[in-house]
Amino acid sequence: MIPASLISKKRDGLDLTKDEIKSFLNGYLSKVITDEQMSAMLMAIYFNGMNEEETFSLVDIMLHSGRTLDFSKSKEFVADKHSTGGIGDKVSLILAPIMAALGIKIPMIAGRGLGFTGGTIDKLECIPGFNTSPTINQFHDWVNKNGYAIMSQSNEICPADKKIYDLRNKTATVPSIPLICGSIMSKKIAEGISGLVLDIKVGNGAFMKNHDQAIELGSWMKKIGEAFDIKTDIVYSNMDQPLGNYAGLSCEILEAIDCLKGKGPDDLMNVTFELGSKLILQSGISKSRSDAIKLQKNIIGSGKGLKNFENSVQNQGGRLEKFHIQNNPDYETHVRSNKTGIIQHMDTEMIGWHLVEMGCVIQDKSKVLDKSAGIEFLKKTGSQINLDEPVLRVFCSNKRILNKVSKALQKTLVIGEDSLEPKPTIL
Ligand code: URA
Repeated sequence: MIPASLISKKRDGLDLTKDEIKSFLNGYLSKVITDEQMSAMLMAIYFNGMNEEETFSLVDIMLHSGRTLDFSKSKEFVADKHSTGGIGDKVSLILAPIMAALGIKIPMIAGRGLGFTGGTIDKLECIPGFNTSPTINQFHDWVNKNGYAIMSQSNEICPADKKIYDLRNKTATVPSIPLICGSIMSKKIAEGISGLVLDIKVGNGAFMKNHDQAIELGSWMKKIGEAFDIKTDIVYSNMDQPLGNYAGLSCEILEAIDCLKGKGPDDLMNVTFELGSKLILQSGISKSRSDAIKLQKNIIGSGKGLKNFENSVQNQGGRLEKFHIQNNPDYETHVRSNKTGIIQHMDTEMIGWHLVEMGCVIQDKSKVLDKSAGIEFLKKTGSQINLDEPVLRVFCSNKRILNKVSKALQKTLVIGEDSLEPKPTIL
């Protein structure tokens, strides 16, 4: 195989065979193909896409780049949820312990922040000691013991996604339907699950900016899931504004804990319950959506969801009692409204990029995460606001960045006079 000839084939809009995709990907994993060559291939895929056969081949090759989990002997329904990425999206942290309390096993392979969106793994690593890189056997045992566990892609499981994920992050090639399918579906199939719900985020803070793109991605992922015998449901949810009241790192763990205590904001809980009810219906535990939502509320009310979260943190080596000592921000400030009116629009992607700048996502391995960094959304789209009233509370541990970002955040808000009904969270 001559790498440049395959890159030029894709660059010129031609289709790659399964063998060509396989030799390119395996060449990259064995370091025969360089980051530069893989970057060029990713950009060619970004611009020219992949047909159905190529996309299925990509998923299959990425899946078989590592080992897979086997839950075929499990008496419980084994399932998972994955989101295409957003700002303030901490649903996995809330949903997994609730599902486990209902008897649905969740072996979740999650990712770090990607592009302008936050990552579950980065958030969990704010908990001192939390191990996101177990061996596959250890992970399997954790899931069996606690009902759920969360790990990152590793050299053992989904190594192709682990390596390509980092490169997509650096090369602005994330928003590509075949690459998202390859990344998400290879992880989910590797988990050995029987059920899956996908939260496809749509809006100005998502990779899919409009409905048509989202529906295309959703139908591809459903087709792939079902081809691998996984019951697959798709939920489309609004990402025209951040989800919940916080976005960042440690602050999202704290908000997830609040949700499990029954104090979660409506938008975040609506998305959680909608996704959860799809898994509950798939499992057969309940026959109606309304009953499935009631079951989840009862789990929160009983404290079992929170208990499961705490047990799972402990299981994975985390020490919640040390959380506050390590993650309190050194500096905070408010972004205030520059006029009286109603918030018409939030530039959610730009808010995400400012979070990246504050250290909530790593794009360059020489940098470190600022676990204390984040934004509290005191007002959201459709809120009435007075001149000089605080809209955002911004916090992190670098004063220079805080000052720079808080000034720039002002431009992410459009305040006008029209009254406005915000879009529903579930589209
Ligand atoms: N989440 C993933 O794991 N991969 C993507 O490509 C997008 C979101």
